[in-house]
Amino acid sequence: MFHRYPNNEYISYNELISLYPWETIGYSSEERPILSTSIGLGHRDICVWAGMHGNETTGIHIILELLHKFQLDEWPESDFKVHFIPVINPDAYVRYTRRNAFGIDLNRDFRAFQTIESTKLIGWIRAKNPELCFNLHDQRSIYHVRGVSAFTSLLVPSSEKSQKITPIRRSLMNRLGNGLEKIENDLIGVGRYSDKYYPTAVGDYLMSIGIPNILIESGVSSRDMSRNKARVFGVELIQKTLLASDEPCKTYDQLPINQEGQLEWVFTDVLYVNIRVDVGVKRLEVLNDHVKVSTFIIDDLGDLSHRPRLFEIDGKDIELREALTLDFPITANFGSVIFEDGKLIAGDLYLDRN
Ligand SMILES: [Zn+2]
Repeated sequence: MFHRYPNNEYISYNELISLYPWETIGYSSEERPILSTSIGLGHRDICVWAGMHGNETTGIHIILELLHKFQLDEWPESDFKVHFIPVINPDAYVRYTRRNAFGIDLNRDFRAFQTIESTKLIGWIRAKNPELCFNLHDQRSIYHVRGVSAFTSLLVPSSEKSQKITPIRRSLMNRLGNGLEKIENDLIGVGRYSDKYYPTAVGDYLMSIGIPNILIESGVSSRDMSRNKARVFGVELIQKTLLASDEPCKTYDQLPINQEGQLEWVFTDVLYVNIRVDVGVKRLEVLNDHVKVSTFIIDDLGDLSHRPRLFEIDGKDIELREALTLDFPITANFGSVIFEDGKLIAGDLYLDRN
């Protein structure tokens, strides 16, 4: 039994290996083991993978929580066998980067199949011959739905350039819609990605060869920069969608398409070199000795009133005397919030609710 990670903490790869009796199904470009496990004894196979982009880690926690629920017997009686790969791109995971050790983005390699990792993933999926797959990623904080932060975005990918709704897509959209209907909470903040066809992405490729799959992109929300809400939602959505029927349902179709442009923190009406401006601040995360550390940078400056934001701080009593540089670690005194060289040294930015 493994302990919980309440804020989706970064788990070193060695720690992840020791957390669970995984099976090693192959090795990455740099010879790191690619881990897998299966739960359930049914005959209906399901595949779930995460960690295709090494700096998108919520999916790993979704998988750990599903395994945990299985250990606790909080798993529905079913005829499913669910197969997991927690990190398909371990070389990127240990670096906390998007791309693999050779600088290739795996999710653009599902036509050329030049990487060991993309070939491994497809071989594994084909061997399982699943009736359904879940492809777990994290999305950037720029996404919102009707001005509300998109804490999760979903996609039933296209299988061809025309974006046609083929019978297999329709059936999957129905099943996902019926799964969404069973979710306890409302769906405010759940978005849908555009179904523009990306022939080199894994989801589109799988659809093109008739393997149904759902993309789940976990995102941030206000006071939840660690994506806890997305983790809880992802776990529930996978369980509910497994058991859902493909009776006609438009709930997925009716989710709003997510939009870009959301800011993280905005200090409004700040006095800055004799003018009044809004200052947008965002957080970058890097790995330092196996721990995620945050650096705050200036994201945008000027009249930002039209852009949705996760947090707003009234800045009319703030006066900044130092020049601010875009995309650079911040050194500035915002009154109650003080940054020095990108680090928050005073004040609260409400990163997490727990
Ligand atoms: Zn991704």
